[in-house]
Amino acid sequence: MNLELHDQLVAYNDALHERTCRAARNRPAAMEFFDRAFHASHAERVEEILEYRAKGGKSIGTFCIYVPDEIALAAGVLPIPLCGGSHWPVDYADKMFPRDICPLIRSTFGMVFSNTCPYRRLKDGVVGETTCDAKKKAWDLLGFEVMEVPQKKNEMDRALWHSEVRRFREYVEKLSGVTVTVSKLKETIALVNKRRRVLQQINAFRRLPDPPISGLDALLVSQIALNQDVQVFIAACEELISELESRVKQGISSYEWRGPRILLAGTPSPMGNVKVHYALESSGLQVVADESCTGMRYYRDLVDESPDDLDGMMAAIADRYFSIDCACFSPNTERVQNILKTVREYDIDGVAQSILAFCHTYNIEAKVIDKALASANVPSLKIVTDFSFEDLEQLKVRIESFGELIQSKKAQPA
Ligand code: SF4
Ligand code: SF4
Repeated sequence: MNLELHDQLVAYNDALHERTCRAARNRPAAMEFFDRAFHASHAERVEEILEYRAKGGKSIGTFCIYVPDEIALAAGVLPIPLCGGSHWPVDYADKMFPRDICPLIRSTFGMVFSNTCPYRRLKDGVVGETTCDAKKKAWDLLGFEVMEVPQKKNEMDRALWHSEVRRFREYVEKLSGVTVTVSKLKETIALVNKRRRVLQQINAFRRLPDPPISGLDALLVSQIALNQDVQVFIAACEELISELESRVKQGISSYEWRGPRILLAGTPSPMGNVKVHYALESSGLQVVADESCTGMRYYRDLVDESPDDLDGMMAAIADRYFSIDCACFSPNTERVQNILKTVREYDIDGVAQSILAFCHTYNIEAKVIDKALASANVPSLKIVTDFSFEDLEQLKVRIESFGELIQSKKAQPA
């Protein structure tokens, strides 16, 4: 690893974290764990994985929430999500990739090509998927294992996905030499569901008129979920939940103002990227719900825990992941319905669609979402951007006008 460049990367990320998440006032004390975990993702967490591997444990890199953690963990394989969210490394990706592709891919591989990715040598394989053109062509180039995610949701697509999930089980079993058993899979299904449940509980507090946790902090919790040991993460979330309960009883909000209440929809914000949340909340709006893969798409659906045989459990896992409403599906009516449902449940005043530059599926699907929101009389704003903070002030100007539009709409008689 290039230690000098790695220090620069960590300093860049830490400075941004101080300026955004840590600069906010009135945060729950339990967020301290998540702040430390942010820094530890390039330090102590790497050591933990090193120790795990030194004892003979296997690990794989992943890039998308379609790769089923339950099966990997049941085979004794630790999944390490590798998506980058930092702007610092993006230009280093030019060594292999064109500039006009999604910043998430450029950030991830920029770390690899600048020799600053601490996880580079901590894996026995990498599993990609076919969710977008940029990713699937990158996997070709890099020779990764690929799960085929279908693009439609018909019966034949479901059958294909089920067979891919079974093939994934064979892949991790071969890697570790450990056979997935009924009892082990039962245990990991319950564990990963528990991680989803604590995330559901934390995010339910955001439905309240005075949320005891901000959108920026809720995003940080979701980002840490992907990197942390599952048990350690659940324990930290339980502590946060007790504190949020007590803040609600005492009437403590994370915000010094009320509304407008925003649903942030669109592409994920991997660790290191908080720009759009920061732009919205520092412009006087409250991000009270996240629709993305670093939001409810990650924790909304549970795996059915009722099957007691291996085939039944494998099918339940495959079905749960098949229900993910990524924009790679066509048509993607479930996503529209889910967004409208969230608008009602979280008393949303406006929707901001945050889309990473060059992500064509989400960018084009934004039109469909816009249309559905217009029919429901919900204002929406589309933001296409990358991870750099260069356009922050321009974004804030647009966001402030969006806030004013919402306020004037609310002031009109019903
Ligand atoms: S947006 Fe789609 S491709 Fe990206 S992580 Fe989510 S499910 Fe995977
Ligand atoms: S945000 Fe869009 S373009 Fe970028 S990796 Fe995900 S699906 Fe692909």
